[in-house]
Amino acid sequence: MVLAVTETIQDVHNDFALSLEMAKEDGRKVVGCLCSYSPTELILAAGAIPVGLCGSTQEPITKAEEVLSPDQCPKVKATYGRAISGTCPIFPLADCVIAETTCDGRKKMYELLEREVPMYVMDLPQKPETPAALDHWVEEVRQAKSFLEQQLGVTITHDHLREAIVKGNKRRKLITDLYYCRVHHPGPINGFEFINTMSKLQYYTDFDHHIETLERFHAELHNLVEKKEYAHSADQPRILWTGLGNSLGCSKVLEIVEECGGVVVCQEGCGGVTRSEDQIHLHGNEDPLVAIAKRYLRVTCACMTPNNQRFEDLERLTGEFQIDGVIDLAWQFCQPFEIESYRVRELVKDKLGLPFLHVVTDYSHSDTEQLRIRIEGFMEQIATRKRYAL
Ligand code: SF4
Ligand code: SF4
Repeated sequence: MVLAVTETIQDVHNDFALSLEMAKEDGRKVVGCLCSYSPTELILAAGAIPVGLCGSTQEPITKAEEVLSPDQCPKVKATYGRAISGTCPIFPLADCVIAETTCDGRKKMYELLEREVPMYVMDLPQKPETPAALDHWVEEVRQAKSFLEQQLGVTITHDHLREAIVKGNKRRKLITDLYYCRVHHPGPINGFEFINTMSKLQYYTDFDHHIETLERFHAELHNLVEKKEYAHSADQPRILWTGLGNSLGCSKVLEIVEECGGVVVCQEGCGGVTRSEDQIHLHGNEDPLVAIAKRYLRVTCACMTPNNQRFEDLERLTGEFQIDGVIDLAWQFCQPFEIESYRVRELVKDKLGLPFLHVVTDYSHSDTEQLRIRIEGFMEQIATRKRYAL
């Protein structure tokens, strides 16, 4: 049974570390990734195991603040703390790490992180619509490939890359199908349970087994829809989640939303549907590195300028998922998402005419009750709007 995963993120990490240790005993290599811009096809093509190493919990932050100033976002601090505090069972198993220059906090933290583990920090262009951006990024993908070859002692051929692209596309398609199971109204699973399960499923050592597990999860959700066994009622507010806070460990706001009667049916951004639905298109004899580079440059993070595709995605998703209200979360001290939130508000409130709530918080639970009051008010706003629409 894939559904109803109830472990904490710590349980998930502990279980996965055991599987990783066994895989390493069999000679497999492990490559850490820190962001949605990491081209995991390079890692698959090298025969290694890709592992997400972003920090999503409060615990390692105290240790990180011995080095980093407190006024960094919790993601930066938790990721660094995860590496230096000795609390993460997965981090020490990484043979090397691929990272990218997204926001300033991340790239300056990486200068310290690379003291802990061999890293290649890819120089990410930040104006993705310019032709020069792609040329530069292709070269960075090439450099990352050379780094992996050197660190892992392998040669990555075009055939390996083509096979990895097929695998990556299959995985993305399945994950997208899973997200779209929640387009049903009412739906087969609540947002928190979905995130809980997906957070666990992101960790795998055996790709084929991973695909089978995703297929099983999809069949379970599909079956629930067929049998009309829904996880929530049709009159609960359907929420689109955008911005940050889409993973187990840092999902407190999402949990409060569902405790207050809403149901998060769609997530945009990292940990959401827009990170899976974009396939790698390999045309004819095109260099697979170029095809990989094109796809990863289309990731719609707020570190990009302008980040227009995010707004097109948001508009499309609010229609497809019959959204009643949008919640946009930025972590404290995160300039890119905090500033971009103004444009999200304009789109949601002014153009789409939907209720909108912007939340700024961190990984601690000190503001839980204030958040609950705001979210209860937001749910009431949606309910009133629906009553008048009847
Ligand atoms: S929000 Fe941006 S910087 Fe953070 S993981 Fe996603 S793509 Fe990377
Ligand atoms: S994009 Fe924002 S949340 Fe992500 S690491 Fe940078 S500052 Fe932190």
